[in-house]
Amino acid sequence: TGKFFVGGNWKCNGTKDSIKQLVSDLNSATLEPDVDIVVGPPFVYLDQVKSSLTDRIEIAAQNSWINKGGAFTGEISAEQLKDIGCKWVILGHSERRHVIGENDEFIGKKAAYALGQNLGVIACIGELLEEREAGKTFDVCFKQLKAYADAVSSWDNIVIAYEPVWAIGTGKVASPEQAQEVHVAVRDWLTKNVSADVASKTRIIYGGSVNAGNSAELAKKEDIDGFLVGGASLKGADFATIINSVT
Ligand code: 13P
Repeated sequence: TGKFFVGGNWKCNGTKDSIKQLVSDLNSATLEPDVDIVVGPPFVYLDQVKSSLTDRIEIAAQNSWINKGGAFTGEISAEQLKDIGCKWVILGHSERRHVIGENDEFIGKKAAYALGQNLGVIACIGELLEEREAGKTFDVCFKQLKAYADAVSSWDNIVIAYEPVWAIGTGKVASPEQAQEVHVAVRDWLTKNVSADVASKTRIIYGGSVNAGNSAELAKKEDIDGFLVGGASLKGADFATIINSVT
């Protein structure tokens, strides 16, 4: 499935000073060579991070507009992200789905547009606690996957991030078995609905309360191809430990 992939989603955190420190910590960290690494600062700090962070780490935006720019107050276009050297965008994050109210179709179209501008897309999926408890985890994840599949024409630049909503920011990490079970189901879904080739090549990463203490156990699972890290990615040493948990 290609290289292990670790993303740091900084969400709406940081100041110029704290980010300067974090970048400096990342620049001096010892990082496993065989891992793709990206960090996603808030838009206003993307340029600061791009110009100060080692080229070893790519940068991601946390959102992008659904189409080319223009009269869309408050939005940022994929073209603008490319212009400042951003290589990736995180789309379909649960906070955008459930706090901001983005739906499957809107997210799918954003993914297609960003891919068309040669950005890599970290395409998030994941179920709510009540959906898991109702036995609907696979249904929810497959519906979210289908929206991406219906919208995009190539999976070459997509990484799927499985982030169960109940595990995000809660300290309640999915067990390696729980994560592996969904990752296998996602891969099977890709085999049946996209192609065996895409299923075998697409990295499926896990997110939700990943930290320096639990990443190694998760990384051992065959279908966990990396992580999307929130809180722990704000600490350079912890993020480095998670990156270096590649097996
Ligand atoms: P936490 O690692 O803080 O749980 O956040 C996960 C996440 O949402 C990454 O996108």
